[in-house]
Amino acid sequence: MEALHYKTHENQTVQCALCPHECKLKPGVKGICKTRYNENGQMKLIGSGIIASSGLDPIEKKPLYHFYPGSKIYSIGGYGCNLRCSFCQNHEISQYVPESGSRLRENLPKNIVDKALFLPQNIGIAYTYNEPTVFFELMLATARLAKGKDLKNVMVSNGFINHKPLSELLDVIDAFNIDLKAFTDEFYKTQAGGKLAPVLNNLKSIKKNGNHLEIAFLVIPGLNDSTNEAVAMFRWINENLGGDTPLHINRYYPAYKLNTPPTPSEKLVELRNVAKEYLKFVYLGNLHNSDIGTKTTCPTCNTTVMERHGYSTTLKMIDSRGYCKICGYGPIAVMG
Ligand code: SF4
Repeated sequence: MEALHYKTHENQTVQCALCPHECKLKPGVKGICKTRYNENGQMKLIGSGIIASSGLDPIEKKPLYHFYPGSKIYSIGGYGCNLRCSFCQNHEISQYVPESGSRLRENLPKNIVDKALFLPQNIGIAYTYNEPTVFFELMLATARLAKGKDLKNVMVSNGFINHKPLSELLDVIDAFNIDLKAFTDEFYKTQAGGKLAPVLNNLKSIKKNGNHLEIAFLVIPGLNDSTNEAVAMFRWINENLGGDTPLHINRYYPAYKLNTPPTPSEKLVELRNVAKEYLKFVYLGNLHNSDIGTKTTCPTCNTTVMERHGYSTTLKMIDSRGYCKICGYGPIAVMG
C-alpha cells in the first residue's frame, strides 16, 4: 500500500513528510521507523494493517481521567515507532516491524470499526500501545469511519508528528494523551532519538483546535527528574495549554536498555506537589497498590468529584454534564 505524506526527488529518492525526521530514502531503503520504504520511487508501507495488540481497556488505562470517566474503549496497536526511547515499556512491538507478506493478518478499517461496534459498552477506538503515527494511514481511515458511526477516537502518542498529518487527525480524533518525555532537547536527542520543539508545537495545536488533551510525564531518576526542569515544564503547560490540562506523572520501571531502579515514590509525590502550584489536575500513575494521587478534586471547593482504585472509577460529586455538584465548577470532564 502506498503511504500518504511524502515527496519525490530526483533519482527516485523519496522524502517522508509524516514526522519531523523527514527521512530521505533512496530506492530499497527503509525509514527510521521501519514502517515505510522506497519501492522504485514510491513510498510504501511495511506491516500496514497488522495489529500486534488489542483489547477492551478502561479509558483510565490510556491514561485519560477526564474523558468519559469509567468507560471502556477498544484499543489497538501495531508495530514500530519513530522514536528510540532507551526505557521503552513496549519495545517488543515498538522496535520490531514484521515484513509485508508475513503470515500475520492485515486488518481493514471496516473490520476494526465493526469489532468496536460489536463490543458491549464500548465508546470507541483508541490507537495506542505502539506509536500510532507510524500506522497513520490505518488510523486515519479507521477514525473517519468510526466517527461516522458515532464512536469516539482516542490517540495515545509521543506527539512527534508533522503539522499537516496532525491537522488531518484533529478533525477526527476526539481525545489525545501525549507523552511529554522531558523538558530538554538534550533528553529527546540522547534518550529518545527525537526533538522537543515539534512535540510542544503539536500540544499547542491540539489545544488550540479544542480537542480533549491530557499529558503523561514518565519520571526517570537522574535523567528527567530535576525539580527545576519539571517546574519549567509545569509552567509551560499552564501558560500554553491552560491550568486545567490534566497531567499524569508516572513512575518509571526498568525496561529495554535502561536498568536504573524505579522512581522513588517520594520523588513523584514531591513533583506532584510542585505541579499543583501550576496545574489543577495532577495525578500519579504506575504506583501499584496505591491510591495516592488518583482522585479528582474540584479546584474551587475541594470536594472529591471522582475516585479511582486501580482502573475502577467512581463518579461521586460530578453531574452528568461534568460539573461539580457542590459548587458548579466546570466542566471538569467530558461525560458520556
Ligand atoms: S514516519 Fe518513519 S519514515 Fe516517515 S519521517 Fe518518520 S521515521 Fe522517517
